[in-house]
Amino acid sequence: MRDLDQLQLTPQATLSQALERLDQTGRGVLLVVDAAQRLLRTLTDGDLRRGILAGLPLDAQISGLSGRPPLSVGQAASLQDVQKLMEQHQIDDVPVLDGAGKVADLISRRDLGSRIYLSSPHLGVEELGFVEDAFRTNWIAPLGPHVDGFERELAAHVGMGHGAAVSSGTAAIHLALLLLGVQPGDTVFCSSLTFVGSCNPILYCGAQPVFIDSEPQTWNMSPAALERALAWAQKENRLPRCVLIVNLYGQSADMDALLPVCERYGVPVLEDAAESLGALYKGRPSGSFGAIGIYSFNGNKIITTSGGGMLVAQDQALMDRARKLATQAREPAPHYEHVEVGFNYRMSNVLAGIGRGQLRVLDDRVAQRRRVFATYTRELADLAQLQWMPEPEGYRSTRWLTCFTLAGSNAGARRDRLLRSLERHSIEARPVWKPMHLQPLFQDAPYFPHAPHQDVSAGLFEAGICLPSGSNLTDSQLDRVSQELRRALAQIENASAPA
Ligand SMILES: *Cc1c(COP(=O)(O)O)cnc(C)c1O
Repeated sequence: MRDLDQLQLTPQATLSQALERLDQTGRGVLLVVDAAQRLLRTLTDGDLRRGILAGLPLDAQISGLSGRPPLSVGQAASLQDVQKLMEQHQIDDVPVLDGAGKVADLISRRDLGSRIYLSSPHLGVEELGFVEDAFRTNWIAPLGPHVDGFERELAAHVGMGHGAAVSSGTAAIHLALLLLGVQPGDTVFCSSLTFVGSCNPILYCGAQPVFIDSEPQTWNMSPAALERALAWAQKENRLPRCVLIVNLYGQSADMDALLPVCERYGVPVLEDAAESLGALYKGRPSGSFGAIGIYSFNGNKIITTSGGGMLVAQDQALMDRARKLATQAREPAPHYEHVEVGFNYRMSNVLAGIGRGQLRVLDDRVAQRRRVFATYTRELADLAQLQWMPEPEGYRSTRWLTCFTLAGSNAGARRDRLLRSLERHSIEARPVWKPMHLQPLFQDAPYFPHAPHQDVSAGLFEAGICLPSGSNLTDSQLDRVSQELRRALAQIENASAPA
């Protein structure tokens, strides 16, 4: 906001004042506004130069410059609208006007040329070596030594006995459900606040999901809701085949509260640690708490194989069976012998090579993501309406994504305006996951809120935003996000304040 104020001057200002202001502000453009701060025109270096060459003295008023009505967009405009205007008219700056014609924002071509992503891949130095090894030895496909190595190294890293590398996190969940005996007609309990990849596999098995709300401290599965859901299921004589606990945004669920409840009912836990590889809960690695844990190496996750996933378990027989199901359930015979249905879910040796290199920088990536979080919270510490995702005592989140909720009323509409404003500056931020119990796909699934009249996950979705959080973001990119967020927020809170 302050930045925009400094760019504004009235038509009575002189050419020399305008030149001086251009020099001070360094944006290459000024905004000429009337007494009510409505935009009259933009003024560039070139406009001033042409005026001087045409013979205007330096003490002439800028109102004497020839000009054209300003090219601008409204607050509903998208990034594409802004880009189109820049291309059509060969301009570098596009003002965004509010309903009264005042300048709410200014988009520069410079911003658009360097998009800031939510979470982009970040390779280390050893990946290429492993991939080259795969080429040199012709272990391009199907399996090979890097697959075995990646399984061994990742399982060891998280303190689980065995791993099975597969083509995606979703495939890992599908196999894990089958390994836990999920059959058509069964129910599976699942965190509601998650990505659909957690629960699509429940449908692949012909089973029915029952969704469990979050609790406010971790944003993960509410022990109170789980307790009520299990008591209900027991009464109905339909205990779930397993409970799928998701660890969101790099943070573990409250395992000390959740696991004893599941144990009491004799229901095994599948831990979806797709977003929490590298996190700790009371010193123990996330993903190592259930009968089976799964990870994802999709391109946006903390480490990536471009696409891939892994199951981990202490039980070797379970992981042997995962590998068999993932390779078309081929029986041990020289010919192709099959007695059960299988899948083509294995990870290739080339991608496993990338994974081995990525695993070596995992600890750095955790430190870098935590630093991103620390930078945002420090830079924006004075903004009380930003409520950062908590990290309770005893938890060590990876801060895979830096998330906050907007305090105050009408959060959903303010969230959308904030996201639109960031997007116009080519900054990729996202709403928090839309809970599964609010998805049309799952409209018939039972749902257990945190408390009878407290739907925590719906509230987190309504008010929550994830900021760009990649481990490869530079200080200047983080600074740009913080500044634009601050500006957009001031604009929105101003506009929504009672007049
Ligand atoms: C990414 C993700 C998955 C799915 O992983 P893919 O590798 O994309 O199939 C599952 N659950 C959660 C919580 C995720 O974030």
